[in-house]
Amino acid sequence: MPHDELLHRHRAVMPGWLSLYYDEPIEITGGHGRHVTDGTGRTYLDFFAGILTNAIGYDIGEISEAIRSQLDTGVVHTSTLYLIRRQVELAERIAELSGIDDAKVFFTSSGTEANEAALLLATQYRRSNQVLALRNSYHGRAFATTGITGNRGWSPSALSPLQVSYVHGGYRYRGPLRGLSDADYIRACTEDLREVLATTTAGDVACMIAEPIQGVGGFATPPDGLFAAYAEVLGEYGIPFISDEVQTGWGRTGEHFWGIGAHGLTPDAMTFAKGLGNGLAIGGVVARGELMDCLTANSISTFGGNPLSTTAATATLDYLLSHDLQANAAERGAFLLRRLREAGRPDGVVGEVRGKGLMIGIELVEPGTTEPSPRAATAVLEATRAAGLLVGKGGLHGNVIRLAPPMTLTADEATEGSRILLDAIATTDKELT
Ligand code: PLP
Repeated sequence: MPHDELLHRHRAVMPGWLSLYYDEPIEITGGHGRHVTDGTGRTYLDFFAGILTNAIGYDIGEISEAIRSQLDTGVVHTSTLYLIRRQVELAERIAELSGIDDAKVFFTSSGTEANEAALLLATQYRRSNQVLALRNSYHGRAFATTGITGNRGWSPSALSPLQVSYVHGGYRYRGPLRGLSDADYIRACTEDLREVLATTTAGDVACMIAEPIQGVGGFATPPDGLFAAYAEVLGEYGIPFISDEVQTGWGRTGEHFWGIGAHGLTPDAMTFAKGLGNGLAIGGVVARGELMDCLTANSISTFGGNPLSTTAATATLDYLLSHDLQANAAERGAFLLRRLREAGRPDGVVGEVRGKGLMIGIELVEPGTTEPSPRAATAVLEATRAAGLLVGKGGLHGNVIRLAPPMTLTADEATEGSRILLDAIATTDKELT
């Protein structure tokens, strides 16, 4: 089927709100390492890794072999009502890696379901439907998770089943706390949390849920220690803290295996997905046993933790840990941050370059101002694509370029990607000023 016909048929049969990148959307038909190929045979260096799902990259021998060996058994899935060896072994490893006391794991097939499950646990545990979330957050596309997402572009629900109060803490570039030092910012956020607890709740809140680095929100990065300060306040009320690690898990932030590690805090629960299966659908919740065991009704995820996805996840974890990809993410990320901070003119379109490890956001603004510039982000997105680099776009205003390459990124690929980005930003600077 020709590309134009595919796009036409996509638009006819799929909902208009289903996002597609690029003026001329790409069909990816092949991949190897950190590169993908489109339907016309054109190859791109991939700095978005299928929205962080290809943690290791494409066509990785060890992962493909593991998947093939499971296929060879003839069993792709028979429901999770039966014992699945790989599922149990993977749960043990994730429980151990979580650092959570008496941890238990529940598997799902996506990040949305993982957060839905965590919210269900917390609301049952505390017998409360009140939730604290961060402004500019994203937690998924189902009923409860869109309801608590703090980003109107991704949260159309006016009928949340939960009562949500939003606090500061994610997006420092804009808003009333802009410009504060880290210590003052944490102090102001904590005061805000106390005030929210005292004014919009009776303290009987089910949980706080937060992303250590806000993904869809434009890789907005709070100061280290913020969430430990929050957890101290929450502890006074017995409110559990849930870290949404869907984007920040598996060492991607470089410094720590979980994004929350930068805050010196072990959460009551963490949710995960994206990179764990290196492209296969798997997510889950790891939580304190007491929290996990609070459900009195039966529950199951028919596909969650199935033999194929847990096999892929086991092979991915083995690879990530044995190749110390967390260290590679730290090194390549530091290089990219350094290079990109040289980008653009002082009065140009780059407002801020931020992030950790291989989660880097470039906030684009109207030249010489702090006004968000979605048109600059679109220009950079299209220019990088034309030069053979795929990047992501996001942020509350659609004005942030997001970089999250596979964690196996090499030094040469980091140099190549940053060169294309610097050129695209320079061209955009020239065009818009
Ligand atoms: N939580 C975070 C932080 C995410 O970034 C996402 C997806 O982008 C989700 C949850 C939802 O995950 P999924 O798209 O796998 O349902």
